[in-house]
Amino acid sequence: MDDLLSRSRAAVWHPCTQMKQLEADPPLAIARGEGPWLIDPDGRRYLDAISSWWVNLFGHCNPRINAAIIDQLGKIEHVMLAGATHEPVVELSERLAQLTGLGHAFYGSDGASATEIALKMSAHFWRNAGQPEKNGFISLKNGYHGETVGALSVTDIPLFKATYEPLLRYTVQMPTPDARLAAPGETAEAYALRCADALEAHLAGHAATTAALIVEPLVQGATGMAMYHPVYLTRARELCDRYQVHLIADEIAVGFGRTGTMFAFEQAPPLPLAGAGIKTVRPDFICLSKGITGGYLPLSAVLTTDAVYVAFYGDATARGFLHSHSYTGNPLACRAALAVLDIFETDRVIATNRIKALEFTKLLADVAAHSRVRHFRHLGMVWAFDVADATAGFSARFHQSALARGVFIRPIGHTVYVMPPYVTSADDMRALAEAVLACLDNPKI
Ligand SMILES: *Cc1c(COP(=O)(O)O)cnc(C)c1O
Repeated sequence: MDDLLSRSRAAVWHPCTQMKQLEADPPLAIARGEGPWLIDPDGRRYLDAISSWWVNLFGHCNPRINAAIIDQLGKIEHVMLAGATHEPVVELSERLAQLTGLGHAFYGSDGASATEIALKMSAHFWRNAGQPEKNGFISLKNGYHGETVGALSVTDIPLFKATYEPLLRYTVQMPTPDARLAAPGETAEAYALRCADALEAHLAGHAATTAALIVEPLVQGATGMAMYHPVYLTRARELCDRYQVHLIADEIAVGFGRTGTMFAFEQAPPLPLAGAGIKTVRPDFICLSKGITGGYLPLSAVLTTDAVYVAFYGDATARGFLHSHSYTGNPLACRAALAVLDIFETDRVIATNRIKALEFTKLLADVAAHSRVRHFRHLGMVWAFDVADATAGFSARFHQSALARGVFIRPIGHTVYVMPPYVTSADDMRALAEAVLACLDNPKI
């Protein structure tokens, strides 16, 4: 195994890593996976407490997803989606349309490529609509939308962004409704509404040059699982309608049940209409990736409305959306995604997870009450807290100490979060809570 680690250090440039730090904090060699467990070459098991960077939903080597991919392998592994089509991509598009209410699906391979697609599509829409000056973007403070150059322009994580600032396009960041930033005595809802007022003030002056607002609905993941009140989404929808700006929901991390509903934006309170009716909150674009294939294969999708779609439809080629990736709509990835949707239906996953989440929250009660813990927070299948006295190197020490206790977990700065695969059992969760407590009890971590 040491041999594998040194070969990896020599030949593999690991993502989001200062390679020199791997000497002190080496990567975990994984030979196999089984349900929520990662298994090393010596047979030691580690609970995948963060779902392999938030992608895994139904465990590793899930028999139903494996079977779907194997079946598809015997039919067609890949065919280009320009000038050809196939059953898995058509069925997936139909089912995603049914689930989101957005009937046109454009595919990419990673989350960041979905962000790029949504940004380009929005600006191109306004160009086709005769308003090419509407090409600016707004995002939230501390937001994360991926790390390719366009996506990084709307991302606001200084550690990832500052170095590349000269390469990026100027964008505007609005105050984040992160509930931890509420004033003393102010509710999360009141604070979210105050942030929405700031958004309105900006839009009132800049709508004419703004194409879209992009947000991570309810949970800003990469900054450290910041959570906010859903009324912000309702207000954002209302304001985007009033000021004629697109609303892009980046559900790359929170989609597919992570926040307790299939998609996080579903939790936005509906808009009251003049008269008696209400209007469901729906974004103009939804970006999906990560959990879409259950963590099996790279796939992303951008779903959008009829109004956006028809603005591209016409005789002029350049009016169309001339964007592509070689693996767009890969059939194996689409079959994995269809198997994931089947599991959601047959196992009634959203309802089952609600019960599971209540149970897991109880199991984490001692963690929530720990003297070092601040801002313990929970939504759906995400739990997070901040460690008050965390010092430099906390994240790596916590990671290594949890590994020694059979748990694979990677804090973000001083925030520890748990985002387990949905197949995690109460016994697994109890063991996870005990490992986290033991790490917290060690003042050297
Ligand atoms: C992970 C993530 C992305 C980027 O996805 P990649 O597949 O890593 O490119 C974009 N937005 C959000 C909210 C994410 O969590």
